[in-house]
Amino acid sequence: MTDCLLCSVMLSLLMSEINRADNTLYVVIGCDCDPDRPQYGGTRYDTRTSLKWRGVREGILRAREIADDIQDDFGNPLKMTWCVRSDLQMKEIYGDCAWPYSEFVDLWESLAGRGDEIAWHPHLWRWSERYGCWYQEIEDGDWIRNCLQQGYAALSSRMGRAPVTSRMGWEFHSDTTMQTIAELGIKVDFSAVPGRFTPGAADHLGSVFNCYVDWRNTPEQAYMPSAADYRRGPEANEVALRVIELPMSTFRSRVLDIAACLRRTARAKGGDKLRHLSIAAKANNASLKAYMTIHPYAFSRLVSAKMSEAKRNGQAFLITAFHADDMLPVPGRINTLHRWQHFAKNIKRLRWRASKARLALRFITASDTLQLLGHRRGVQSA
Ligand SMILES: [Zn+2]
Repeated sequence: MTDCLLCSVMLSLLMSEINRADNTLYVVIGCDCDPDRPQYGGTRYDTRTSLKWRGVREGILRAREIADDIQDDFGNPLKMTWCVRSDLQMKEIYGDCAWPYSEFVDLWESLAGRGDEIAWHPHLWRWSERYGCWYQEIEDGDWIRNCLQQGYAALSSRMGRAPVTSRMGWEFHSDTTMQTIAELGIKVDFSAVPGRFTPGAADHLGSVFNCYVDWRNTPEQAYMPSAADYRRGPEANEVALRVIELPMSTFRSRVLDIAACLRRTARAKGGDKLRHLSIAAKANNASLKAYMTIHPYAFSRLVSAKMSEAKRNGQAFLITAFHADDMLPVPGRINTLHRWQHFAKNIKRLRWRASKARLALRFITASDTLQLLGHRRGVQSA
């Protein structure tokens, strides 16, 4: 690990004994600032034409407006970590990996100016000439390294400083991607979904393969990934990478797990449906992530789990996220709440429940956790 990061974590470790009983629930909320997905009126994955960005243009402002009404117990408005696309798909379509930063520069600067963090959200979307669509590249190490190196360099250059934090597209990592972001200088990554495995599949939106993730055996607490296996901390004689992995918060529910598997099955095509069905059949109370925009029932399960942890340990980190286009109204939805309404309800309920439980709520950015990591005993370092 770098000297400065090492000092920061060691200092935090020293402070941990003093602060362990601060009775605080720390909350990190990330936003994946992707182009609009097809289900939100965006471009299908089988076209190379320009993408649509209503989620970034309108959704982010809506999220910020809702967040501005909420303060934590330290007088801070809700902070968010905005994860901006910069990768080879952007370069292929717009001629510049970091086009989304340049195009919306005023927005990012105004968000950063008010205390939010601007982070990096690279996707490994690669165009397939054979199938005429974008797909998730997970095997070609040279291509993946090049995509990340170019994306990071371009974003650093447009921002005028290097991003500290990353959140990977689809929440995917491999040994190659984790090693590459560590070498590039990323200090915090919050992509892991402990316990989650999805095999990837063709979808009905035009792609022949995407949504592959493998976080089996990943701990629920922050850790420094092993160079031998990105999903966990180092074992004896293994080297730790110079990056902190901050896993997303999860909760357990067999019923909701089966429902999520069945949703993925419905979206999959052909033989992939069978694969997803077989995973659904084996659903075993696996850990589930809860985006800020998920149904309030599911989100409340996550909040309950984290509040219990904060009471038990004196503090806990609630790490969650959402997509910019989640904040757009969905045409034709009449009887159920829109996702942006879930977002508003979930934030207000989180605020109310923490105060009822006499827990201090503190909103932080992903990179703020670098200073706080030692507050937890679960940080695994070399
Ligand atoms: Zn994304």
